[in-house]
Amino acid sequence: MSTDCLFCKIVAGEVPSTAVLETERAYAFRDIAPHTPTHVLVVPREHHADVASLVRADPALLAEVFEAAVQVAEQEGLTGGYRLLANTGPDSGQTVFHAHVHVLGGRPMGVLA
Ligand code: 5GP
Ligand code: ZN
Repeated sequence: MSTDCLFCKIVAGEVPSTAVLETERAYAFRDIAPHTPTHVLVVPREHHADVASLVRADPALLAEVFEAAVQVAEQEGLTGGYRLLANTGPDSGQTVFHAHVHVLGGRPMGVLA
């Protein structure tokens, strides 16, 4: 755990969150400022700064995070489709430096950037 990391604190239960899915190595919770009717964040329980660091350190864990994200989309009933998004680094607008995948859905979305 990184002591000054918001998502580590959420995983530890020190900062409250609304759980959507819990697996042994991943945790999914609702985004505090949703951009779409369904907006869920999926994180590895272990701290990695972003998906680039995560895939190098533990590719199986990144796969588990994506598997959980797909499970969330199914659980949330996103039958019309959904977007999985992983901001990586400053140009992407990443604000929390604990790897996470956004699960966005519930309405049609425009093109990126
Ligand atoms: P990023 O911009 O780093 O890809 O995404 C970070 C996300 O975390 C944002 O969508 C933001 O709304 C969300 N977020 C920031 N602080 C909190 C919080 O305290 N709780 C929850 N549930 N989400 C948060
Ligand atoms: Zn962290």
